[in-house]
Amino acid sequence: MTAPTLTPKPAARLYPHTPGRNWRLDGNCLSTDVDMHPELRDQPGIAEAKAICAGCPVTDKCLTSAVKVGDWEGIRAGLTGPERRALAGTMADRACVDCGTTYTPRTKVQQRCSPCSHTHNHLRDRR
Ligand code: SF4
Ligand SMILES: [Zn+2]
Repeated sequence: MTAPTLTPKPAARLYPHTPGRNWRLDGNCLSTDVDMHPELRDQPGIAEAKAICAGCPVTDKCLTSAVKVGDWEGIRAGLTGPERRALAGTMADRACVDCGTTYTPRTKVQQRCSPCSHTHNHLRDRR
């Protein structure tokens, strides 16, 4: 096995991700020859691919996209397909605890839709 190579992209390092620019262009995996689709039993290969994601500036967008389109192949955002599936279950649309509106959470622990989160935080800050 050859050592993983990762050619640093100065633009991506200086400007983690430019809003409006296609996030895929800033992915670390674009500038590596590491196999990002190792077999699930290939632990060294998985570790190698995960290391490429580790310093990637667009992991959140990559994960959101993978979960949204149901891409369970290869390593994305430092997770294997089964790991992303498990996470997707916890990030499924849910009802806001305050207003009942169905929304897509950005984190596993989020309880409120965006407007209610703002109101909640505002009221909490005034206490
Ligand atoms: S998180 Fe990983 S798979 Fe996604 S763009 Fe970055 S390096 Fe590529
Ligand atoms: Zn709400």
